[in-house]
Amino acid sequence: MKTHVKALVVGGGAVGTSIAYHLAGAGWDDVVLLERDELTSGSTWHAAGLLPYFNMSYATTHIHDYSIKYYKTLEEETGLNAGFSVVGNLRMAQSSARMDEYMLYASTAETCGVPFEWLTPAQIKERYPLLRTDDLVGAIFHPTDGYINPADVTMAMAKGARQRGVKIERKWQVDSYHWTGDHWDVTVTKMVEKGGNLVPSDEQMVIHAEHVVTATGNHAQRTAKLLGLKIPAIPVEHQYIVTEPDPALVDWRKAGNPEHPVLRDADAKWYVREERGGWILGPYERNAPARFEYNVPDSFRADLFPLDLERIEEEYMSMIHRIPTSETVGLKDDFNGPICYTPDGNPLLGPAPGLRNMWLAEGFSFGITAAGGAGYYLAQLMVEGEAEIDMASLDPKRYGSWMTTEYAARKNEEAYEHVYILHHPDEERPACRPLRTAPAYDRQKALGAQFGCVNGWERPNYYGPLDAPETFDHDARSFRRGAWWPHAVEEAKAIREGVGLIDATAFTKHVVKGPGATAFLDWFTCNRLPRVGRINLTYALTDHGTTRTEYTIVRLDEDEYYLVSAGAWTAYDSDYLRKSAEDKAAEFGYIEIQDVTTQWGVFAIAGPKSRDVLREIVKDADPATVLGNKRFPWLSCRDIELGMCPVRAIRVAYTGELGWELHHPIEMQAYLWDQLMVAGAKHDMKLVGARAQNWLRQEKSYRAFGNELGRDATPLEADLPRFVDLSKRFHGKEAMESLGIRSKCCTLLIDGPNDADPWGREALYDGDTRVGRLTSGGYSVAFGKSIGMGYLRPDLAVPGVKLQVRMFGELWDAEVVEDSPYDPKNEAIRADG
Ligand SMILES: Cc1cc2nc3c(=O)[nH]c(=O)nc-3n(C[C@H](O)[C@H](O)[C@H](O)COP(=O)(O)OP(=O)(O)OC[C@H]3O[C@@H](n4cnc5c(N)ncnc54)[C@H](O)[C@@H]3O)c2cc1C
Repeated sequence: MKTHVKALVVGGGAVGTSIAYHLAGAGWDDVVLLERDELTSGSTWHAAGLLPYFNMSYATTHIHDYSIKYYKTLEEETGLNAGFSVVGNLRMAQSSARMDEYMLYASTAETCGVPFEWLTPAQIKERYPLLRTDDLVGAIFHPTDGYINPADVTMAMAKGARQRGVKIERKWQVDSYHWTGDHWDVTVTKMVEKGGNLVPSDEQMVIHAEHVVTATGNHAQRTAKLLGLKIPAIPVEHQYIVTEPDPALVDWRKAGNPEHPVLRDADAKWYVREERGGWILGPYERNAPARFEYNVPDSFRADLFPLDLERIEEEYMSMIHRIPTSETVGLKDDFNGPICYTPDGNPLLGPAPGLRNMWLAEGFSFGITAAGGAGYYLAQLMVEGEAEIDMASLDPKRYGSWMTTEYAARKNEEAYEHVYILHHPDEERPACRPLRTAPAYDRQKALGAQFGCVNGWERPNYYGPLDAPETFDHDARSFRRGAWWPHAVEEAKAIREGVGLIDATAFTKHVVKGPGATAFLDWFTCNRLPRVGRINLTYALTDHGTTRTEYTIVRLDEDEYYLVSAGAWTAYDSDYLRKSAEDKAAEFGYIEIQDVTTQWGVFAIAGPKSRDVLREIVKDADPATVLGNKRFPWLSCRDIELGMCPVRAIRVAYTGELGWELHHPIEMQAYLWDQLMVAGAKHDMKLVGARAQNWLRQEKSYRAFGNELGRDATPLEADLPRFVDLSKRFHGKEAMESLGIRSKCCTLLIDGPNDADPWGREALYDGDTRVGRLTSGGYSVAFGKSIGMGYLRPDLAVPGVKLQVRMFGELWDAEVVEDSPYDPKNEAIRADG
């Protein structure tokens, strides 16, 4: 075995094998893949092999799309037939809400170039007469996907990898990782068969690896322990059953009819496909338990759990309802295996937190579908430094150190059970909540707050009726304007016309200080640094010149800065900041970085009357002037006192109205809340949630991280040249300039349907030509119509250009408008008083 390698891939399932293949393809010629048992002996061997395109995420749809196209090429490359049956995929809908879901999904598919067709119940019946269709509303059909043999496709990828020079070693288990400061020393043990078990032998060796990728499937908890990390990948039981041949199906096929597509009755929570004249039924039932919460027992190899037929009885009966001829056929086989999940159902794919040259590819629940694309994009990330698509939504650092085994297990059970629920874009999942609450939580709840969850934090999305039943928010959800919508409208109006209070405690906050801090941040971010007491909006770039993080930087002292970034990304931001500072300490001097996220609460008060509210409680020798423009100008920071609470007040407002962010010691939050509520009552202050804030920021064309800002566009493409100081040297500058403007961010006002707004996933058209996509959407109270932001071909991203947005299958007029269509001169935000 090779002892010095460029990359060591650990795990020979579909995912690890694809990664090894693609690393070799991307030019790394010294790649070894280790498997503790046999290739495919993890979850891969018993997968049903379906390759569903359907996915609400832009990044994941690209990953699935790559896999489906790539698997079709493998036979020509390797001579091995992976058994790809391109039978298509028919996703049926029993309700109009389900059709709305498919139409929203189709927006994502359309922006990724994935083909689909719509079918009516009559068309379904005509094509597939064995199906009962009288209770269907319609279906979406993907003609280009289908199913594959998971073991065969893995073997074909393994052969392709070997052809590209990868060495694959079986029966070697990784037992420890040690980072030397330059490479990984990986201790591996030869595994041997003993009485049907696989046990470690005395034979060990150390592999010197520049990079390591772990793709250890159900063994992720062991991997986490070896690396000293938390990895929320824990499997859940998943079963499917295979029936005896169905005579009606056999006759249908004998008559020369084509194979049925993979059938999905999402409302009944199952998939079905043909298997040797019978049917495979795969349900996503309730109460499937998490397994291997701490480790996979040594005795569990390519094993299965016993079938639990009772658990899937409901789904079984509904298959019989949909395919009546299946009622009389017996069961031939069953599979109940571990399927790895993560709390949000997406894999953990990317650099490991806190470690160098360590890459995770864990927690794949649709691992056969995703393996090809995951390998391709991860290899790009490793070899070139970035992938073509923004991989942030899959990044392992989206869960912070607050995450525990119990949380991961219960959330993963929920993610499994939720595979086929209606995926409303305003969905909030209930398991493991509330968990991270700020002190004002109970007060907000008592006042009608309906919470969303950001990085585990409870954050008010909007304030519903005071007497709302427990189920209010659940029942309020829709693909159109849900029952929460009028509440958000009132909240948005309050900020434009009066005053509102928003809880922004979930913000990520870092302190960067020390002798090297100024030089480091000047290099790390693209805007000029603010003067002491002032703030700036700025961006840290990737090596490729795209946006890695957006920061509001407050300069507290010559060499001390307070950095505020998006709440969802604390560990993601922390990791990049720390690693970058560590790399530059020798050049710039000592740099200290503290994550102070949980030490500071944040309230944002905004609206023309916000100064009046604060003036009621501010303590100062001259309260009349302390908040005026002279002493407290826009884009500055002051330490003020609100009653007995010391507050770091920052004069910015993400809503674009006169306002302040009130950063305060978290332990004084309840006190400050009470003060603000009493003062606010005198000025009709309204409590406002994240939904209204999201609309208001679009009226100001403020880009949101994760929507308009990410690793697939530069700040110049985001059309933010005013925050980029081209006169200085900064990280990613040359790369950013060399990328040019491939597409450009702009704001659009939309004459959409009167019961819906875009969600930020819709395709933009110029006549028949798709010319871009929305990345945000919502309702504008200032203009009384829908609003959106998105990326367009640069020649079209010009105010006055008339386009169309596809929503619910129809094209709706939209016009590109000047940035900041509301208050373009920033008069409201600068208002004196
Ligand atoms: C019943 C069932 C049906 C499914 N159907 C589908 C489907 O239709 N479509 C779909 O896309 N997905 C399906 N899945 C999910 C799919 O099986 C998984 O997502 C996929 O197999 C994950 O592949 P992997 O490579 O990540 O993990 P695995 O296949 O589990 O591979 C991980 C490998 O790592 C090895 N390993 C672990 N630790 C070490 C170590 N320390 N040293 C060396 N080697 C190590 C293990 O031995 C194992 O072989 C199904 C799952 C189940 C249970």
